Amino acid sequence: MIQLFIPLNFLGFVYREMRRALTDLENMLGLLQREPRIEDAADARELSVPEGEIRFHDVSFGYHRDRPILKGLDFTVQAGHRVAIVGASGAGKSTIARLLYRFYDIDDGRITIDGQDIRDVTLDSLRRAIAIVPQDTVLFNTSIRENIAYGNPSAPDEAIDRAIRMAHLEDFIAALPQGDQTLVGERGLKVSGGEKQRIAIARVLLKGAPILIFDEATSALDSRAEAAIVAAMREVSSGHTSLVIAHRLSTIVDADTILVLDEGRLVEQGSHEALLAHDGRYAQLWRLQQQSAEP
Ligand code: ATP
Repeated sequence: MIQLFIPLNFLGFVYREMRRALTDLENMLGLLQREPRIEDAADARELSVPEGEIRFHDVSFGYHRDRPILKGLDFTVQAGHRVAIVGASGAGKSTIARLLYRFYDIDDGRITIDGQDIRDVTLDSLRRAIAIVPQDTVLFNTSIRENIAYGNPSAPDEAIDRAIRMAHLEDFIAALPQGDQTLVGERGLKVSGGEKQRIAIARVLLKGAPILIFDEATSALDSRAEAAIVAAMREVSSGHTSLVIAHRLSTIVDADTILVLDEGRLVEQGSHEALLAHDGRYAQLWRLQQQSAEP
């Protein structure tokens, strides 16, 4: 009996926590201010992602009709590439992620994944194909290992161990009193912002989605914590198409392409070196951040 009770109890726990996490995710994405009505089209098909190429074709969007936020955005994220979106606060970076996940429908243009308009596919298949590392990760009052496995509760042990390695959590876990069985939460271990992001990275890896979105936390991390996240992000992104919403330019200098947004328009795109040489908006943002990073 007890053998049956434990898995059932765990399933109940997972279900409750999933509902809570969904609400947290929605809160995180700032969705509760506008109730979106997004439904499957009558003839919606399953999204198929053989490559993972994302395209925004002349996309315009506003949360309110009279206030456009994104204006004629046109860009391609090649399959397997890591692309960063940078720009001042309010430029529209997170909005791009919300539109790709189809929390809202766009006003003009098209968003495609491997050539399929995301409005023509089922929401379920779209959201299964995309995994998000949110700015603020919710942890549950359970062990570190269960917190990681939350990305895929049926994942085999080896997959969880691999996710721990790839998210650079091994040393952190090794130093805990009960290793990966250490309890997290109010009466348990306090986890730092950087560690939380790496737990989110491990979860994302376990979800096994071909497209990854990293919504970088705005609050500053010390340089060691930042280096660990950058290393984890780099490792986990390999073989995936990934979009990084970046606040600290130092974390994305090696992105394949950097998209620079200014008031909802794409004003520059290129590699870090090319954009510095261009000496435009990105170079200006870079100099500003370098100055504020100096002691
Ligand atoms: P940050 O770097 O501060 O996270 P961001 O570039 O990601 O900013 P967005 O969150 O995409 O910016 O927001 C772009 C604009 O859209 C902002 O002016 C913001 O106030 C507005 N906005 C965001 N969410 C909503 C919403 N749910 N309803 C109405 N306006 C919104």
